[in-house]
Amino acid sequence: MKSLDSRIIPLPTEIAEAARSAIKAGAADHALVMAQSPGSCPCRHCLRWAKPGERVILFPYAAIPSGHPYAETGPIFVHAEKCERYRATNEYPAEFRSGRVLRAYDSNYNLIDAQVVNGNEPETVIERLFQNADAAFVDVRSVTHGCFTFRVLRVGHASGLPFDRVAL
Ligand SMILES: [Zn+2]
Repeated sequence: MKSLDSRIIPLPTEIAEAARSAIKAGAADHALVMAQSPGSCPCRHCLRWAKPGERVILFPYAAIPSGHPYAETGPIFVHAEKCERYRATNEYPAEFRSGRVLRAYDSNYNLIDAQVVNGNEPETVIERLFQNADAAFVDVRSVTHGCFTFRVLRVGHASGLPFDRVAL
């Protein structure tokens, strides 16, 4: 697989663990869901689809934090059981090569460009989006449901920018 000049940022383990604690505590905005079919519940932590019969937690996640015009909180899944955080951070996750829209943001969380993968190599789309010098990160989302899947951070923008605090 083509290696990226950018870094894949899966959901932080602390957030997955917090969701697992919250469901045990009965949090009203967390739901335990049994995956019914392949390709229906993507885990944002290991960046795999839950297998039918696996349990996942559905909960709201602020991919773009409040205090910004493009602030956005939306539902995401993580495995209910412990899973390993995606580690091949220089490789685009194999299970999400289609059905995704890639949205480029600047370092102030403003949405500046977007492109549907649509049969293209996602690496090529990411490269194209990062040709814009203002693009600090690219969020990968479901093209049908709109849900946040993972973030791609431009290499070299990894320190001192506000999004590091919430996204890494
Ligand atoms: Zn997982």
